[in-house]
Amino acid sequence: MDLISHIIFGLTLTRLVYMNRPQEWEKYRNIIILIAIAASLFPDIDILTTHRSEIHAPLVLAVLAGVIGLAYPLSFKPLLVGFLSHSLLDVFLFDNSNDTIRQIIDIAITNDTAASEVNEVVVTGIAANGIMLLYPISRKMYSIMLTETTYAMVAGLVLSTAAITLYLTRNNTGKYR
Ligand SMILES: [Zn+2]
Repeated sequence: MDLISHIIFGLTLTRLVYMNRPQEWEKYRNIIILIAIAASLFPDIDILTTHRSEIHAPLVLAVLAGVIGLAYPLSFKPLLVGFLSHSLLDVFLFDNSNDTIRQIIDIAITNDTAASEVNEVVVTGIAANGIMLLYPISRKMYSIMLTETTYAMVAGLVLSTAAITLYLTRNNTGKYR
């Protein structure tokens, strides 16, 4: 999934985790949000080497959150939630076998050469085989292929979760103030 979805999903889940800890949330909100954003994007630094590598594996990320959490306990929850939310979203792959991406680009870019260059970059950028869900036990890649409709449903689900969380936390904040 794209960076924005990762941030929205990571922040939403983190906020949900702190629902029952309003004092902790109120006190450390800014740092928690910063850590959650960083964590929800972190696994993609492997784009510099092999994308969707070991650092997309949930167990590796959980251990990393644990190690950093030992040194800096406050960071443990937002790190863990941010990391795992990233893994979870990256299980979903967009099925581009019908050249959907090219069709969308063609709407925006009329120049054929330019459109095909942009398509190349985008397609290479999103190309992936899922994630190594069970690493280090197995290096098998797991993924769920989404069509245009189901991709929109998953994206919609992420946004709805965010909207519901916002709604719930607004009410909560009022209650505790
Ligand atoms: Zn990723």
